[in-house]
Amino acid sequence: MRIAFLILFPILALFAGGLLYRLAYAYPRQSFGELLRPSCHACGVRLPMRYSIPVLGTILSGARCPACKEKRGVGSLLSEVIFALATFLLFFFYDLSFLFLVYLVAAALLLVLSLVDLDVKEVPHGFLLVLLLLGVLLFILSFFPKVSLSKILWWEHLVGAVAVSVPLFILMVVSGGGVGGGDVKLMFCLGLLLGYKLILLSFLFGIVLAAIFSVILIVIYGKNGKYALPLVPFLSVGAFIAMTVGETLLSLFF
Ligand SMILES: [Zn+2]
Repeated sequence: MRIAFLILFPILALFAGGLLYRLAYAYPRQSFGELLRPSCHACGVRLPMRYSIPVLGTILSGARCPACKEKRGVGSLLSEVIFALATFLLFFFYDLSFLFLVYLVAAALLLVLSLVDLDVKEVPHGFLLVLLLLGVLLFILSFFPKVSLSKILWWEHLVGAVAVSVPLFILMVVSGGGVGGGDVKLMFCLGLLLGYKLILLSFLFGIVLAAIFSVILIVIYGKNGKYALPLVPFLSVGAFIAMTVGETLLSLFF
């Protein structure tokens, strides 16, 4: 079982990463044919099936569309590699467990939400709802710790839902921009899933990463114009760090 998993899962994870990339493109445009056969995002031509083979699809095409010669495939390739890496890390920390599955689905949702936010600056409710349901599931199972294997207590899930989302909501109202409603909702769903300790850690990592990235952008491009940095990718990376090494980090300091 474990051996079969170790051989099959990297391949499946790469496939899933490519599929998640196409889902992130298809969902805001409601063009779900994209899931069956990828298209060129520049000219819209449907690409041959071999282009949806993970990693190889991009390499075989020379990362260009065969029709219009525009660059394509690099985003998909990154998504494939990132998701395979995320799967590997979750497996490393949780082995084949129930919590592994829950966090794997959460990681897939975070990847799609990040890609959609980068692409069209939206945080679609459909994906948030699935994330919320995962949180509700872990909350219910927290009354049966032997099943969930999670050490997070029921009230920690509840406090987690509001620990970051409420202050962020107040900040959104006061500042009138910068933070979006989607970020607040994401932190609510993730907080319920992860509990208050891990969501605070997630947010800390997310904000620090976003700040570092902003400084780099300012250094490279100068301070011209107001550029709203999409927050979801940073919050997602923060959440993933918390999901994997969060408990260890917390036990070091508390
Ligand atoms: Zn094209």
